Amino acid sequence: MPALTLRAAEGKLRRRLRPVAVTLLQFTPSAVLECDACGQCWSPNCAHGGRFPRGYWRCPNGCAEVLAEAAAEITARWRREAQAVAEAVEFLAR
Ligand SMILES: [Zn+2]
Repeated sequence: MPALTLRAAEGKLRRRLRPVAVTLLQFTPSAVLECDACGQCWSPNCAHGGRFPRGYWRCPNGCAEVLAEAAAEITARWRREAQAVAEAVEFLAR
């Protein structure tokens, strides 16, 4: 496997953080993350070997949980609407 360059690792981390609404402010010498929801900045404490701890991307203010709830709510609403459309289509087909 080819060695991951620092630049490639930074890009990979940036892409991974985008869907969870976190911005990578700084990558080296230590990573600094910013929450897109509340603006909180934090630095994940890297273990030996530079690995990020579990849940390093979670905002200390709990915004990840709020976002997850909002996403679940949107999904539930979409499901109800899709169900209503399916019922309407079925009704009209009779
Ligand atoms: Zn936050």
